[in-house]
Amino acid sequence: MTDYPHLLAPLDLGFTTLKNRVLMGSMHTGLEETKDWNRVAEFYAERARGEVALMVTGGMAPNREGGVFPGAAGLFTAEDIANHRVVTDRVHDAGGKIAMQILHAGRYAYGKECVAPSAIKSPISPFAPAELDEAGIEKQIADIVTAAARAREAGYDGVEVMGSEGYFLNQFLVEHTNKRIDRWGGSLENRQRLPVEVVRRVRAAVGDDFILIYRLSMIDLIPQGQTWDEVVTLARKIEGAGATILNTGIGWHEARVPTIATSVPRRAFAWVTQKLMGEVGIPVITSNRINTPQVAEDVLAEGCADMVSMARPFLADAHFVRKAAEGRAALIAPCIACNQACLDHTFSMKIASCLVNPRAAHETEITLDPAAQAKRIAVVGAGPAGLSAAVTAAGRGHDVTLFDKADSLGGQLNMARRIPGKEEFHGLVDWFTASVDAAGVTTRLGTEATAAMLADFDEVIIATGVVPRDPSIPGQNGPNVLSYIDVLYHGAPVGDRVAVIGAGGIGFDVVEFLTVDDSPTEDLDEWMSEWGVGDPAQMRGGLRPEGPQPEAPARKVTLLQRKAQKLGKGLGKTTGWIHRASLRMRNVEMIGGVNYERIDADGLHVTYGEARENPTLIEADTIVLCAGQLSERDLADALQANGQTPHVIGGADVAAELDAKRAIDQGVRLAATL
Ligand code: NAP
Ligand code: SF4
Repeated sequence: MTDYPHLLAPLDLGFTTLKNRVLMGSMHTGLEETKDWNRVAEFYAERARGEVALMVTGGMAPNREGGVFPGAAGLFTAEDIANHRVVTDRVHDAGGKIAMQILHAGRYAYGKECVAPSAIKSPISPFAPAELDEAGIEKQIADIVTAAARAREAGYDGVEVMGSEGYFLNQFLVEHTNKRIDRWGGSLENRQRLPVEVVRRVRAAVGDDFILIYRLSMIDLIPQGQTWDEVVTLARKIEGAGATILNTGIGWHEARVPTIATSVPRRAFAWVTQKLMGEVGIPVITSNRINTPQVAEDVLAEGCADMVSMARPFLADAHFVRKAAEGRAALIAPCIACNQACLDHTFSMKIASCLVNPRAAHETEITLDPAAQAKRIAVVGAGPAGLSAAVTAAGRGHDVTLFDKADSLGGQLNMARRIPGKEEFHGLVDWFTASVDAAGVTTRLGTEATAAMLADFDEVIIATGVVPRDPSIPGQNGPNVLSYIDVLYHGAPVGDRVAVIGAGGIGFDVVEFLTVDDSPTEDLDEWMSEWGVGDPAQMRGGLRPEGPQPEAPARKVTLLQRKAQKLGKGLGKTTGWIHRASLRMRNVEMIGGVNYERIDADGLHVTYGEARENPTLIEADTIVLCAGQLSERDLADALQANGQTPHVIGGADVAAELDAKRAIDQGVRLAATL
């Protein structure tokens, strides 16, 4: 008997059956653009082997003007069709099913050629779109239909028509972006004409025995977004036009509400999809922040949807469904919703991967074959670098011993998981713990490894991490000064007025910790109130007219840095704005361009600029030092002095710009070579 009966139940679509209720949602990985079709095929085939019922590819452009960026992949030539055939064949051989997403970006297309219902530039693009005339609209429909027909020719099991997230079809639906007065704008019927026409003509072109998913924006999260009545009306028309399945889209890309970041509560939008259940006769898929089999099972068991879509969880673990079915859920690598290696890469024009699983989209580059010869390997340091190296090496058949002077596994992850909004890090530590166990790694916790203890190993990996940088500020040894470790790890008492020195990732984390008493991530109602999200049945687009209503901050905090630039500039590309907005909501004062002159009982004394002008007292009961970190290399240096050649990884290797992504990547890549 399985723990996940709803999740693992098949879904009969009439002409075909899906083996379970899990869809791998569309993600732009950048793989198609590499034109390395073996690599693309391996990425999807690996997930098919992991038993997901149906996968959706990254968005394929129906034409040049609709591509998300210049050069975006699509099915434009016979050669493209043949290349995609490599992917679909490999997926089918692995027992999987795959649908191709057709993505017309409209005014979100990053290029001068972009087109839209009206010539209104989006706030997230530098390009103003050209307004389409009647013939232009007909051309867009024809191109989308052609793309669908070619997808069928290339062997896909279906297509997903992207109608949400503020892309082209979504742009026709609301007056925010559609000011037309012809038959494609004005009345609701006219605004909804394009998506319905697209689905009707795609269905006519591909025949009845082909999956047609329509991704429908169920809560726009923008001013003048759709009402719930409009959403239901459209859903029914899309069903009537021939869609097989409706998928959920949440929020336009320009929305100022986080929808998938780690601080968004799990299954935060399942209630929106649930409102559509019973309104249509075709299956409905829910999505966003579903990342464990239990959450997915609960969502289905409660009747929120007929299927769940998970996207990033399949970067973290290609075998999510298989492990759930085999009773090995604890060994599913969890997506922590950080965006650091997936979306942040995509927006930097890099190939996507995963912080937790560096092999994601790099399956042909990092291979983990059994080791030719089993070695005795010591790993010192049980933070993310050491853990990933230990688990990977043991998984390849090596005999691994993992040392840490702390009594528990996790290293700096144990600080991250205490931050409100970063609760997902608990799951990451739990997964590493289960994996260490399953891989048969011997742990020596509470043990400070010495050079003598390491003498008999074939390989030694030093992952001893970092120590806090000493900022050498006069008065920093006073009783009112704490380090971030005192605050986050040892739970030292902190006063009501706080100055935080250093505005890197840790400075921001410490401020979040000190200003938030009860994490809104753990309480959906509170989170919705904090970001101003409401029921689209009561307010257009699901935005509360009163706007965000955050809880009062727990303390008065000032965050400082010496650089004159905007604070938080180095935070994640797709998540930095959320951290900055969160701190602004808590009235945190953010000050750059300071010199730290001294600390005394009154607080922190600073001056400004090179001339050290404008001496100012930041009144504070507690000053917290978050001034960056330096490599902890004592053991590595001692071994090297002995003539040994340890492998040094993670923060012990390079402390600057260290994060768990680099640490885990380095650990896995090293262990793959031993
Ligand atoms: P960091 O990002 O390098 O920031 C260090 C901060 O200390 C900077 O604001 C820097 O600003 C300041 N600083 C540097 N030298 C100083 C000195 N001598 N005196 C006073 N201030 C000084 O390091 P971190 O905050 O310790 O974070 C460590 C790593 O953990 C980060 O690189 C980050 O990637 C990772 N992390 C990431 C997140 C995340 O949200 N993704 C969260 C936590 C940690 P000025 O030089 O301008 O003063
Ligand atoms: Fe999830 Fe982060 Fe991996 Fe992206 S990088 S898939 S958000 S864990």
